[in-house]
Amino acid sequence: MIASELAPVAKVGGLGDVVFGLSRELEIRGNSVEIILPKYDCMRHGEIFGLEIAMKDLWVPWYDRAIHCSVFFGFVHGRKCFFIEPHSDQNYFNRRVYYGNSDDDQRFAFFCRAALEFMLRSNKHPDVIHCHDWQTALVPVLLFEVYKHLGMTHPRVCFTLHNMAHQGVTREHILRETGLGRHGYFFHQDRLQDNFNRAALNLMKGGIVYSNFVTTVSPRYAWEIMNTDQSFGLGHTLQVHRQKIGGILNGLDYDVWNPEIDSRIASAYGLATLDKKYDNKRALRQRFWLRDIYRPIVCFVGRLDYQKGVPLITHAISYCLQHGCQFVLLGTSPDGKVAHHFQSLKQHYNDNPDCHLELGFNEELSHLIYAGSDMIIVPSLFEPCGLTQMIGLRYGTVPIVRATGGLLDTVFDANHSSKPYEERNGYVFNDFNSQGIESALERAIGMWNNYPEHFRELMANGMRADNSWNQPGRHYLNVYEHIRDRSS
Ligand code: ADP
Repeated sequence: MIASELAPVAKVGGLGDVVFGLSRELEIRGNSVEIILPKYDCMRHGEIFGLEIAMKDLWVPWYDRAIHCSVFFGFVHGRKCFFIEPHSDQNYFNRRVYYGNSDDDQRFAFFCRAALEFMLRSNKHPDVIHCHDWQTALVPVLLFEVYKHLGMTHPRVCFTLHNMAHQGVTREHILRETGLGRHGYFFHQDRLQDNFNRAALNLMKGGIVYSNFVTTVSPRYAWEIMNTDQSFGLGHTLQVHRQKIGGILNGLDYDVWNPEIDSRIASAYGLATLDKKYDNKRALRQRFWLRDIYRPIVCFVGRLDYQKGVPLITHAISYCLQHGCQFVLLGTSPDGKVAHHFQSLKQHYNDNPDCHLELGFNEELSHLIYAGSDMIIVPSLFEPCGLTQMIGLRYGTVPIVRATGGLLDTVFDANHSSKPYEERNGYVFNDFNSQGIESALERAIGMWNNYPEHFRELMANGMRADNSWNQPGRHYLNVYEHIRDRSS
């Protein structure tokens, strides 16, 4: 695995969870997995066990020089990880943030080159290199255009699209920096040239063109990016390469997300001990100074990004408070405007005994929120897979989601679904507007108040659903088997 995130050591969103969970599942199934990551200064170093130097001097070609790097090895909850640390004035990974610098294109292009150089120098020839999103999209390009000619002829590449809204659109300097060169060759519609801006390079496009197989994180999103405008301009490229594209639903790591053994919540519970969920509801209220009253708690957990439906989240808070619910939110935003919006909302609701907005990233707290809430909203504009609704299901917290991407593959409406009753587990709405989310909230809140037994059935149906890595793990192994080089 070559990735820019790995939970819990370097996690911004679902990508980190997926890289960890999939790697673990592959190892359980008898494969050997190693993960290469940047050595960020802001990583949670406490989550790494036995960190030691693996390669003191790695010289990574960059422009017409080379950058001196060190590579560290350590275990992250059992996973074998290599961390690349460059020593240069650019301080690529000492920025106190994972993403959001103006030179992110260079930082991650460098990481791709460094990861391959490390593999070459340490004689690593895995059957498959699996890379993720635009940050590591140059890996297959560099592998097949440069490193194959240096002896790395064995590995095949699987590339996973976690979110097509971010593609790594950049300029020709990347060709000079990475040593790919050959301006005329790469600035071609069949290779890395952006489909809209002919003067730009599109790294994600390069990943799609050069990989042996491309996956995305749910079957529904796979369909949407091939057939609607969800591909943000890469639809044509996906169509050209459609024979090597597939959708595999993400799994949830049931060792991390399991209310029966979760040490981060107030009281463990399962299907047979569902009443103990309410100890967590009480603990959540205490933690956030909410009043103890017979009302449902509705929550939101996630990045406060346009994609996640900022206006609908905002509307849901006031709607829930006006309709006899309590509301809890946990989220952060790298976007100054959105961050400011939620700061003002927080102030607005500061003295409200039924509402708490927690603006920050807090993995531990997220567990208590999932466990202590009755419902979770995911009103995304688009959602490649979405993990928070799956975590909600696992914790008996009924999801209320918009009908898009992976949300449609995992949440089945209580009233309007083609699924049998025992598989219905939440509420789904179509329209990305206030009326849309109100229509679902109204039904969910009504059910909680008037038909608590039915509401409990929905909770139980969700808890019974299998969203583990078991099935997706098998699907990924089929992909790897399909592309593997059998000649040696
Ligand atoms: P995305 O990858 O688009 O951010 P997902 O739903 O796929 O969204 O994954 C989100 C993951 O990140 C979940 O594990 C969620 O619990 C976690 N998460 C998001 N924001 C926060 C936060 N502020 N604090 C703790 N965990 C968070």
